[in-house]
Amino acid sequence: MPETVIITGASRGIGRAAALLFGKNGYNVIVNYSSSADKAEEVCSEINASGGCAYPFKADVSDRAAVDGMTAFAAEKFGGADILVNNAGIAEQIMFCDITEEKWDRLFAVDVKGVYNCTQSALPHMVHNKYGRIINVSSMWGITGASCEVHYSAAKAAVIGFTKALAKELGPSGITVNAVAPGVIATEMNSRLDPETMDALREETPLERIGTPEDVAETIFFLASPRGAFITGETISVNGGFVI
Ligand code: NAP
Repeated sequence: MPETVIITGASRGIGRAAALLFGKNGYNVIVNYSSSADKAEEVCSEINASGGCAYPFKADVSDRAAVDGMTAFAAEKFGGADILVNNAGIAEQIMFCDITEEKWDRLFAVDVKGVYNCTQSALPHMVHNKYGRIINVSSMWGITGASCEVHYSAAKAAVIGFTKALAKELGPSGITVNAVAPGVIATEMNSRLDPETMDALREETPLERIGTPEDVAETIFFLASPRGAFITGETISVNGGFVI
């Protein structure tokens, strides 16, 4: 019986690469998205054409009722999710003084409460099975802090704290909880950065390139696989040496 993975924000970028990797390796995949229905359908088509099994599911991760609907859908199609990848996220570059309460709350609603919602919703099935894998996508800015991204850095740091605490709580239930902390990755999230800024970030990276969504997907996949079975509470950096 193949394992089932829910990947939030899997219509684009890192989540998409992870969905394709799991799907092509025989996992059942729920491809979550919030607005890009066409792109989520495309990801599923690619997986299904390669012999895997994937369904798109629209749910804003900040909306608990929608998330519970996604969990119920995974149960109906596959009996429940064994693996949860909390990848959905939003970012914004803005001076701290200009972060309105509304902007602060929205970023935390998606990047932090979304992780809480999806994890708490998916957990009963994992606890029942005494088996599960939870992988949270943080960021190197959650480790170092980024100027003009205070709310994003604080949210991604919260995800690391969440990961450590929950790993301790869920270890006895046979569930691992880990995070990945990507560096600069070529996705739409960085599409607003001008070429000069991207060049400067590339130059600051010891491996002298911008990361790909596949670089991060491989690490997520490793943590979910039997090879990562004795790793929990860790935050694995995937940043080409940007933070050493
Ligand atoms: P992206 O290309 O902008 O994709 C974001 C994904 O999240 C999309 O699938 C989007 O769905 C989904 N999403 C956004 N808000 C959502 C919501 N409320 N509910 C459900 N899904 C939602 O971003 P990315 O670069 O792949 O980022 C993925 C994760 O990696 C994020 O957590 C991000 O913070 C983290 N990260 C990225 C980088 C980087 O350099 N790119 C670096 C460090 C960490 P729709 O298509 O439907 O909008």
